[in-house]
Amino acid sequence: MRILIVEDEPDLANALARGLRQQGYAVDIAENGEQGWELGEIYDYDLLILDLNLPDMDGLEVCRRLRASRPSLLILMLTARDRVTDKIAGLDLGADDYLTKPFHFAELLARIRALLRRDLRVREPILQVGELKLDPATRTVWIGRQRLDLTRKEFSILEYLMRHAGEVVSQEELIEHVWNEDVDLFTGSVRVHIRSLRRKLNDDVEHPRYIETIVGAGYRLLPSGGTE
Ligand code: CA
Repeated sequence: MRILIVEDEPDLANALARGLRQQGYAVDIAENGEQGWELGEIYDYDLLILDLNLPDMDGLEVCRRLRASRPSLLILMLTARDRVTDKIAGLDLGADDYLTKPFHFAELLARIRALLRRDLRVREPILQVGELKLDPATRTVWIGRQRLDLTRKEFSILEYLMRHAGEVVSQEELIEHVWNEDVDLFTGSVRVHIRSLRRKLNDDVEHPRYIETIVGAGYRLLPSGGTE
């Protein structure tokens, strides 16, 4: 397990790194947000210990950027005691857990173990079709490194199409698997959501890169998923 500590207080960063290395983790330190972001982009860390209060690039911004480009990275935030809004913002940005300073090293270790366990147990694998990536656990979608803002329906449609990439999926099938007990059970509503999904994917009906319409049959997510 490889861990990156982003912390601008050298004494704390070094003490944490020393303790974690003794536990058998591989540990790197970034002294500021900019460096943390850069290292996070370069190396495939399993877990990020991220101080929110950093001198240059704010910890929340580091979280936002790395969450967008590294969907499976676990992020544990370190926050000051009274910054409740930071904790909320961090969790909303996709951090997995937080610890309030000051904390006991034993608690940090327990949190890390819990995160790694939880990760192995409940995280469904991320779906990938070409440029498209979808994380069922966090309900997040990316094209390349760009995160898409989808509605619940759009997300579910795309998830179903990605699980059946290359296959023709009928409107009835989508209704059955995506609509649950909702009332708008007519195929026109599938078309409406497909249309808005296409718009967000920047897809072209005539020359689709992602979703192809098979007239009289349904839709097909192209297995190339946007890659030429
Ligand atoms: Ca700090």
